[in-house]
Amino acid sequence: MELKDRFLKYVGVYTTSDEESGMHPSAEREFDLARILESELKDLGLEQVCLSDTCYVYGFLPATEGMEDKQTMAFVAHMDTAPDFNGNNVHPQIIENYDGGDVLLKGSGAVLSVKDFPHLPSLKGRTLITTDGTSLLGSDDKAGVTEIMTAVETVIKENIPHGPLWICFTPDEEIGEGSLNFDMDICKADFAYTVDGASETEIAYENFNAASARFEIHGKNVHPGEAKDIMINASRIGCEIAMRLPLLSETPATTEGREGFYHLTDMEGNVEKATLSYILRDHDKDILEGRFNNLREIEKEFNKIYGEGTVSLTISHTYDNMISVIKDHMEIVDLAKEAIKAQGITPESEAIRGGTDGANLSFKGLPCPNLGTGGYGFHGPFEHCTLEGMETMVKIITYIMSHPIAK
Ligand SMILES: [Zn+2]
Repeated sequence: MELKDRFLKYVGVYTTSDEESGMHPSAEREFDLARILESELKDLGLEQVCLSDTCYVYGFLPATEGMEDKQTMAFVAHMDTAPDFNGNNVHPQIIENYDGGDVLLKGSGAVLSVKDFPHLPSLKGRTLITTDGTSLLGSDDKAGVTEIMTAVETVIKENIPHGPLWICFTPDEEIGEGSLNFDMDICKADFAYTVDGASETEIAYENFNAASARFEIHGKNVHPGEAKDIMINASRIGCEIAMRLPLLSETPATTEGREGFYHLTDMEGNVEKATLSYILRDHDKDILEGRFNNLREIEKEFNKIYGEGTVSLTISHTYDNMISVIKDHMEIVDLAKEAIKAQGITPESEAIRGGTDGANLSFKGLPCPNLGTGGYGFHGPFEHCTLEGMETMVKIITYIMSHPIAK
């Protein structure tokens, strides 16, 4: 199938995941795309094709002759789209020979502008695919799904020698559960790549270390007229704690690159009780630990001032930086860089300011850096990609498949 037709077919399937349902998969509709992919993998002649009851699609392509002793690699992409914006009734606008300027999204009247997306002029001359403004596009991550499927089809149809390959499509990545029911007993690979990034130059293998922290403050409420030396106002103490943390640095709005932060995500309270919820992020584990210690010091100090038990702090681990796993498998990063360079482009490895399913898979024992997709502006109406970017990704993936690593 033509790459463009395949992409348009997949983005036409409504697969928005659901943060609220608590089900696995989070939405039944995710099966609609999973069933299509299951049958397409079977049609391509893959072996051990299966669709699990939690909506994971797996398929195995045995190595070509002489490549059987190479390491087994896997390619992973997610089928769901982000619940942040409408993902139903996607009407893509296809602009051939794009002029590199602003694009009117005709369904909503919004404008995909060079001002907001300064990389747009670099896509001049390509076939640009946008939304009509009423939905997201779903190139995150149906571009990844499309590219993996097209690459598998290419190695099969063009008889390109390759090592043993697993293809895996997951549900619920957008709600942080894409690796939750990933079955390592089915997908017995030595390493993998998620195809879920932005520019086709991307090979990412570092992400944040992540934790959450919650202060619970227990106050004492008495009539304000008779409160002298008695009242402990939990809300006021909560404000005091928030003010003790950096306000002009170490926040999401004041950091970039490898700088981490404290991020106050929620606060509520009255005189009797207050809570402050934070997420904490850093690429460096020791710096993150330092932030934990800072919060613990605050807890100690406030309990000294207001009485033991007034403030209690809970810190929970969320995910880790995959670099601690990948650093022992840098040959898989080198292979990806070689594949990108072979297309005449320069590989870029930015530290991801978030997490990836690949990070979780890496810690489950499947080292898994992230490749680009050629898509941009994810999770909203300004999402877009180009056919040429996707074609380049197919070549990168095909190159990787046909250059397996020795055991
Ligand atoms: Zn994604």
